[in-house]
Amino acid sequence: MTDKLKIFDTTLRDGEQSPGAAMTREMKIRIARQLEKLGVDIIEAGFPAASPGDFEAVQLVAKTLKKTVIAGLSRAMKKDIDACANALKPAKRRRIHTFISSSDIHLKHLFKKSREEALAATAEAVKYARQFTDDVEFSAQDASRSDLDYLCKMVEIAIKNGARTVNLPDTVGYAVPDEYGRMIAYMRNHVPNIEKAILSVHCHNDLGLAVANSISAIQNGARQVECTINGIGERAGNASMEEIVMALKTRADKYKFTTGVKTEEIYKTSRLVSTLTGFMIQPNKAIVGNNAFAHESGIHQDGMLKYRQNYEIMTPESIGVPESRLVLGKHSGRHAFKKRLEDLGYNLSPEAIDNLFAKFKDLADKKKSVYDEDIEALIEEKISSAHEVYQLTYLHTSSGNTTLPTATLKVMKGGTESSEAATGDGPVDAVFNAIDRATGFKGKLENYALKALTQGRDAQGEVTVTVAVNGDEAHGRGVSTDVIEASAKAYLNAVNKLLLKHKTKSARAAFDIQKGLKL
Ligand SMILES: [Zn+2]
Repeated sequence: MTDKLKIFDTTLRDGEQSPGAAMTREMKIRIARQLEKLGVDIIEAGFPAASPGDFEAVQLVAKTLKKTVIAGLSRAMKKDIDACANALKPAKRRRIHTFISSSDIHLKHLFKKSREEALAATAEAVKYARQFTDDVEFSAQDASRSDLDYLCKMVEIAIKNGARTVNLPDTVGYAVPDEYGRMIAYMRNHVPNIEKAILSVHCHNDLGLAVANSISAIQNGARQVECTINGIGERAGNASMEEIVMALKTRADKYKFTTGVKTEEIYKTSRLVSTLTGFMIQPNKAIVGNNAFAHESGIHQDGMLKYRQNYEIMTPESIGVPESRLVLGKHSGRHAFKKRLEDLGYNLSPEAIDNLFAKFKDLADKKKSVYDEDIEALIEEKISSAHEVYQLTYLHTSSGNTTLPTATLKVMKGGTESSEAATGDGPVDAVFNAIDRATGFKGKLENYALKALTQGRDAQGEVTVTVAVNGDEAHGRGVSTDVIEASAKAYLNAVNKLLLKHKTKSARAAFDIQKGLKL
């Protein structure tokens, strides 16, 4: 007998709360579509009351997807629930996810409510949310640091008023596996109406225990797990979806649970999220890191050749790592290109294909072999540039061991082009200085990394940067056969994200919901 476990993906909500991971609507839609293909059960698309931008993004995801349940987050208050209900209106299947804190620390210092007031707010919010949908989830924020008997009471009240899913998060990443599992078991044994709801968990990785805590909870009766792709999220991140799913699959001898996830889509989803957010995946990251399936030592390689299972507990194919990445060259036609796009999972309009094909031809002129990564970079660039405030239209640099590095460039903003020139310590510094002048945006470069996107001397350079301004930061990414151009694109990408984030942030402040955002 195996039990079905629901996968609740919050990459677009908690994941987006990672410092520097602001996403445009286009990015969210692209990720949401891939999540649906991956087969998660619920997608938490955002926090509609937070800002008009968040509202629109949730609404667009709700309009676009057809199969997956779309959830929106709301505090336990009417105006948040109203925003949620409105944003989710176009969804085929919708869920309102409402929350309040259950720990004394939060009630006293964050919500400034008594225990009794929080119980009343729970009842009222859940009942109100049920007017809009039967599918209501209630979360007791900071559950893992709450008094267990009080938590039981809150859970009972939420279920009594119509919550079908009750989530007990380890909001601050403080729990350890046995204790967290016991909390779930305690709820099952002490809440009289517990059978009427699905218990859910939501773990943060501050102590590196998010996945272990989630699995301990599942063993003790939780049947929904909240997680993100690549484990992105607030602070140290959330429980990583791919790690939970592959742990359950690989150790099916021990864990009798099934999920709806098509694991062959994991690798592609992981890369998409990494590319669009600019969050690089560490090489030794479990499941999706570049080295996750690399066997370096001679003894291991020999063992692998003799019998793969000597050292391999799961196969790269099971998560969809593509076998051969060499695809196209300069003589490949539109038909072959279109076919390859489809194989990679992109079903695009004829105009979009024409547009990409022209870019592909330009690229194939510059490098001999065009790999899947190159094609994906073209597509992602198109998605992430859709709403860019500034676009780079011209770039010229000169540098050498005896000349002063200089950069001249032009940027386009809303149909107006402006040009600037600057010098610097090197050509990259000169380019960044010129961009600062052209945009009037003086960011601090926190991090700069350059790597080859694929193998070979003609490989494209992939530059990722972190740029900070006034306590805010954003990651940018740029890809080109010219590393200076890649640097310019990455820096400008980060500047554009900061501009977008600034807009969202001031809107969020206007909505006065800075408190209690960190579920
Ligand atoms: Zn969280």
